[in-house]
Amino acid sequence: MTAEKVFDVAIAGGGIVGAACAWACARRGLTVALVERDVLGSGATAAGMGHIVVMDDSEAQFALTRYAQQLWQQMAPGLPGSAEYEQRGTLWIAADREEMEGAERNAAWYSERSVPCRLLTAAELSKEEPNLAPGFAGGLLMPEDAVVYPPTVALELARRAQELGASLFVGGAIKGLGQACLVLEDGREVHANRIVLALGAESVQLRPDLPIRKRKGHLVITDRHPGFVHHQLVELGYLKSAHNISGDSVAFNVQPRQTGQLLIGSSRQFEEHAAVDQRILSSMLARAALYLPGIASLSAIRVWTGFRASTPDKLPLIGPDRTDPSLLLATGHEGLGITTSVATGELIADMLTDQPSAIAREPYLPARYTHTDRNQKNEEKHEVDWSHAGIDDGV
Ligand SMILES: Cc1cc2nc3c(=O)[nH]c(=O)nc-3n(C[C@H](O)[C@H](O)[C@H](O)COP(=O)(O)OP(=O)(O)OC[C@H]3O[C@@H](n4cnc5c(N)ncnc54)[C@H](O)[C@@H]3O)c2cc1C
Repeated sequence: MTAEKVFDVAIAGGGIVGAACAWACARRGLTVALVERDVLGSGATAAGMGHIVVMDDSEAQFALTRYAQQLWQQMAPGLPGSAEYEQRGTLWIAADREEMEGAERNAAWYSERSVPCRLLTAAELSKEEPNLAPGFAGGLLMPEDAVVYPPTVALELARRAQELGASLFVGGAIKGLGQACLVLEDGREVHANRIVLALGAESVQLRPDLPIRKRKGHLVITDRHPGFVHHQLVELGYLKSAHNISGDSVAFNVQPRQTGQLLIGSSRQFEEHAAVDQRILSSMLARAALYLPGIASLSAIRVWTGFRASTPDKLPLIGPDRTDPSLLLATGHEGLGITTSVATGELIADMLTDQPSAIAREPYLPARYTHTDRNQKNEEKHEVDWSHAGIDDGV
């Protein structure tokens, strides 16, 4: 079927990152194949929270998330209602005076970079979110942060790519990377001049040498309780060790869905098994009840886990592979891949068409990792420095 056709680019993985790459490449006039083993928008995309958030952990993280947020804003009016895009804003909650000082520093930092934000006093915080426990010091409101339903967006981006001529190979599990081709388990081959690897946390299946580790997260969704919270609520004190259980961590993070349901997160564990961990789940829910006492009386209807693709420096791998320049990586997005998917698509399409990008591409280039880094990881010596891959990788 495809043995004779050679695409300009074949994208491995139809999560939100692969779909965003497909749409961006198709818009540039490239012939595109998008290959997904399951359904489009599965993987971490189906397991994620859908918080479109600007983060300030580093200038590079900020540049990518802010660029992405602006792309989401441009895209929002054209998204279908089922994408559930809502500019809810994030409310970062300061538990005490020390955290409030951190919020003030963050506000100054964002203001210097022209990102709208507003500090809230304790009284203003309670007024915005009456169901919060009393006694918090205040908060930082980021009004341009948003919420989406990620699997629907992935489908929409793939649909748009297809409308522009992209070929979708859904149900085709890739078993290997051949010479300028993807080799599927059923024996088919998808040939292309360039390959984009966008398999999220599963990227190591095809390239075990990549500096990526699976980072498990739990989410809980409740019954419908419209108006219980109005913003995405996240604790500012996620670095405090109080909620760090033997290297695993939980943080208060609650999202209002358009359906009136609440999505409750979040947890992080370097762990490969998908099973729900009761100890982490209880700790996560206890943390949520500390901030929102009324949440304990709501009915939870489903709990699930998903895997983030974590890199040691908390930045994704976007660009040519060191060993095979015909291969581009679009992976390692950890807890920010819904947000940064659309920016990743643009960067990949810029690279493939030799165009300049809206932001500097260097911080995300896979070339920042040496062969030695990769081999050490591959041999499980764990000499890649993972110590910076903290809870603040995303939300
Ligand atoms: C609990 C949790 C909460 C999160 N919350 C947020 C959030 O609020 N905001 C945010 O920005 N990010 C969030 N994230 C991160 C975000 O979900 C991911 O970074 C993002 O979905 C990564 O997308 P992807 O397309 O790279 O990977 P995936 O979505 O995992 O897609 C990879 C695709 O490749 C396919 N695939 C795998 N192997 C093969 C194969 N051999 N052959 C063919 N296809 C294959 C899979 O089926 C899958 O569809 C969260 C993640 C988790 C786990």
